[in-house]
Amino acid sequence: MAELTPMMLQYKSIKEHHPNEVLFFRLGDFYEMFGEDALEVSRLLNLTLTHRANQPMCGIPYHAAKIYIARLLRLGKKIAICEQTAMPQGTRTLAERKVVEVITPGTAVEEEYLEQSVHNYLAALSCSRGKAGFAFIDVSTGDFSATSWNLSDMAAEFSKEIGRCSPRELLLPLSLKEQPVVQNVLSNYSTISISYYPDWHFSQELSFKQLTQQFNTVNLRSFSLSENSPEVPPAGFLLNYLEKNYNSTLPHITGIHIYKDSDFVVIDDSSRRNLEIVSNLRDDSVQYTLLESVNYASTSMGKRLIRSWLLTPLKNKEKIDTRQNLVKDFVDNRDVLKRVRELLSSVLDIERLAGRIAMERAHAKDLQALRASLEHWIEVRQVMEPIHYITTDTEKAQKIAEIISHSIVDDPSTVLTEGRLIKDGWSKDLDHLKTIQRDFNSILDSYVEEEKAATGINNLKVRYNRISGYYIEVSKGKLDSVPSHFILKRALVNGDRYTTEKLQELEQELSSAGIKIIEEEKKLFLEIRDKLAQELSYLFQIASEVAYTDAIATFAHAAIQHNWIQPEIVESGELEIVKGRHPVVEMHLPSGEFVPNDAYFDESKYFALITGPNMAGKSTYLRQTALITLLAQVGSFVPAEKARIGIVDKIFCRVGASDNLARGESTFLVEMTETAHILRSATKNSLVIMDEVGRGTSTEDGLSIAWAVSEYILNTLQCKTLFATHYHELTRMEHPALVPLCLDVLEQEGQVIFLKKIKPGSVANSYGIHVAQLAGLPAAVIQRAQEFLKHQVSSILEPIEADFSVKTETETAAKNTEIKPVAPGLFSDEELILDEILSTDTNALTPIEALLCISRWKKTLSGE
Ligand code: ADP
Ligand code: MG
Repeated sequence: MAELTPMMLQYKSIKEHHPNEVLFFRLGDFYEMFGEDALEVSRLLNLTLTHRANQPMCGIPYHAAKIYIARLLRLGKKIAICEQTAMPQGTRTLAERKVVEVITPGTAVEEEYLEQSVHNYLAALSCSRGKAGFAFIDVSTGDFSATSWNLSDMAAEFSKEIGRCSPRELLLPLSLKEQPVVQNVLSNYSTISISYYPDWHFSQELSFKQLTQQFNTVNLRSFSLSENSPEVPPAGFLLNYLEKNYNSTLPHITGIHIYKDSDFVVIDDSSRRNLEIVSNLRDDSVQYTLLESVNYASTSMGKRLIRSWLLTPLKNKEKIDTRQNLVKDFVDNRDVLKRVRELLSSVLDIERLAGRIAMERAHAKDLQALRASLEHWIEVRQVMEPIHYITTDTEKAQKIAEIISHSIVDDPSTVLTEGRLIKDGWSKDLDHLKTIQRDFNSILDSYVEEEKAATGINNLKVRYNRISGYYIEVSKGKLDSVPSHFILKRALVNGDRYTTEKLQELEQELSSAGIKIIEEEKKLFLEIRDKLAQELSYLFQIASEVAYTDAIATFAHAAIQHNWIQPEIVESGELEIVKGRHPVVEMHLPSGEFVPNDAYFDESKYFALITGPNMAGKSTYLRQTALITLLAQVGSFVPAEKARIGIVDKIFCRVGASDNLARGESTFLVEMTETAHILRSATKNSLVIMDEVGRGTSTEDGLSIAWAVSEYILNTLQCKTLFATHYHELTRMEHPALVPLCLDVLEQEGQVIFLKKIKPGSVANSYGIHVAQLAGLPAAVIQRAQEFLKHQVSSILEPIEADFSVKTETETAAKNTEIKPVAPGLFSDEELILDEILSTDTNALTPIEALLCISRWKKTLSGE
């Protein structure tokens, strides 16, 4: 310690309070990082590492800091900004330094740090008295919500909520650090920045106080919360955390939205992933997702709303119909739609701009952006005259726009310390100061003329540079004529630089005017911003109307673009889709190549068992049915010729383990845990999609489980179900509610064509070898596989047939004896028989089957 310089001691004492943040330590024009911070950041951002007093160190220029901060935030880092708050003076040799702000992934509000089309959520979870509370907030928009669940549902609920809001940052009590269920869920979300705080931070009492103070209420009844609600601790702690980071209040957070699962269609975490609603299974991007098919919003606000709508489909017919009818209005008024979308594309993020005004962070360009956006919105409202649903008046928007346009210059500075903010004519005082500044040049000019005349130096000039300020320049040849009142500033090769008392006086006057202008402009700007802050609730109202209009217009645009129709929403267990298409698969195929398919379910026929070979289109058919239902309940039009959609309360989508490789979860256990969750949570009004469930285990086990699960759904749950399977044995199941469907395959001259057309019945052949051939397996391997298929399959499948088949033993025997000798090929008869003996499971053979095999081998070997 003795070796540390005073500055490094200062650094150490500040860093002690910020062990979890990267400390940006301001040193002149740079932010420097030391020690561990320097090592980590230089590696992450590829910065040059240097050393100072045996400490690793790296730095970034302060004016470029935002770019680096944005990158660190994206990597989940937190940054503490330490500024020089007072410069060295008198006896003090060290600048005073203080952390002025902590920026974290979930609390960032600057435009540079945020992704436009997604919310930037900060979330918190806490548990008490058998309940978990979960709250999340987007400070940049003031969007604040919370929910709760029973601790026994932790795994499913926590992963569902976290998947739905995908927070950038999560705050947890220390006691959950070792909690296996919570940690297990979090292991799927490596990009969330997670921090732990002692449990007392999540105190019920303190949080209650924090919330009532924030909302300026005595209790929280208007938000459906009591002192003991499980939502209170995490919500209160979020506010506390934000306040600490900003050293300021958050006037735009005026309430919290408490929601229950019952408000929306429940789509659990793995169903959301498997249906690829807003992110795909391959790389989590938006490509090949449902969102991609409606990703046409013109504004960031619209983009965020569409995303959240897709994740929370509605259950209330009235609400669905309202959205749908507005979509229809736009579809029917295409000119209006086109114009509205054009105008909206010039509307910037009013919601986040208002958020920055609330947090006293909006700069003058932000205000100009707000003005332009409000003006465009006023135009949108005029154009929308025929489609009438918004009630907020635009008079106030007009007024706000006028204030900004009269006060702020057109292309203002983004900082408050260099002037260039306020228009002429807005303030008399400011105009006066500016006159002094403007007239300075002519005053200076006449002074120069004066000195020229007096000295006879006719090439005498007054110049300016940043270091020396104003000076008189006299060239070498004229030095003899320099009068005594010229004070030498600097002697140079070509001439000398002087000043005079008069020049110094003028300079003083100018610089004080300059400083005063900057101060005055800043003061005026802050006044204007405060004035706008009075209108926050109005601005947020406008922002939400822009988002709503944009989202509706987006659905209308998607409907026109993809030829979607208005579905009929009904409150029965019916589901009728005529010529339905998969919205995403269709988009990526050449026009007209997608084969449409029908679907029909009602209260007496609710279970579709779908068979068909690989590549026949089973998964696509299953998902399109779920996605059409989902789109309909979001209020959108759907890809079909006609659709009647009975409202569902939950949508489940399970995919057999080996089909779900993208997620790296090939374990059968996961598949079964998820299946268990469906069987426990589905109701009669749910929609269940099961795609080759039971695949992650042996054939016998898989088939048995698939059979039992189907039976349970048919008899107990009785919900609409689409069950795709490669176990043909399942088609022997009989139940009045079961509809066997299959995907049509055409065999033509040895070629197999997948028609992608659904039809009643089932298919027996799995055409797996054909798919292998398509995939380019060597001809020899294909031929060998065909021989095996003809020759051996019966012996592998018999144990199963013995269990499920309704056939008699003699039938089985007869079938076996039908097997023809293998055609001459790659292998000799002896080799084939040897192979068969070695691969036969003797434990699974019945004595009679063994006898039949031996007799067959004898026939083959004796050439009969
Ligand atoms: P399965 O689940 O039966 O193996 P998939 O649903 O995965 O089959 O479909 C296989 C391929 O066929 C996919 O590439 C898909 O894009 C295409 N496909 C599926 N259904 C259709 C359809 N109705 N029209 C056109 N192409 C389709
Ligand atoms: Mg499939």
